[in-house]
Amino acid sequence: MLYLALFGPPGAGKGTQAKKIAAKYHLYHLSTGDILRTEIANGSTLGHLAAGIINRGELLSDEVVMALVEHAIETSVGVEGFLLDGFPRTVKQAKLLDDYLHAHDKQGLDALLSIEVDRDELTRRMLKRAAVEGRVDDTEEVIRNRFAEYEMKTKQVANYYLGQGKCLVVDGDRSVEEVFQTLVGIIDGLI
Ligand code: AMP
Repeated sequence: MLYLALFGPPGAGKGTQAKKIAAKYHLYHLSTGDILRTEIANGSTLGHLAAGIINRGELLSDEVVMALVEHAIETSVGVEGFLLDGFPRTVKQAKLLDDYLHAHDKQGLDALLSIEVDRDELTRRMLKRAAVEGRVDDTEEVIRNRFAEYEMKTKQVANYYLGQGKCLVVDGDRSVEEVFQTLVGIIDGLI
């Protein structure tokens, strides 16, 4: 089983790349953001809790998100691994994930694939996505909050995996296809 995570700031193109990679390598695309949006659409208790937090551009608690990830891993069948998208988003989540994988006889994540994109380009992409997808958390104020959360809580996750020799950086300031081909080259080297 391969355990990969796509990492990067909001708007880096994680979701787009994740779909393409998951299809190519028969991986389960595990997007915590997508799971939460489904909970909101279903009107569940968790969905109600998540809606307020997401609409402010803040993060849900580490334990709640880890429980969602565990559930998704344990209920998925017929996949050759997992591609995490939007998780881990804090060092605490990375540690919880490590603990979980170690308890299941895995050496933690195989790699964190970090997509780096220039900040102005990120804002431009997110505002464009807001217009196309109509995501409620893509307004200018919420985008600012999401970047702040990224700077404060998420960025350090890359250092955590750098320390394990597992953080691999990709230049995301290129076309979708170019970034994808670079990721494919890296993943082919891992398997
Ligand atoms: P995303 O689609 O990954 O950009 O996630 C959308 C929103 O869902 C985020 O801004 C957070 O409010 C919430 N969320 C998604 N993944 C996580 C996570 N790993 N930890 C905490 N909150 C999350």
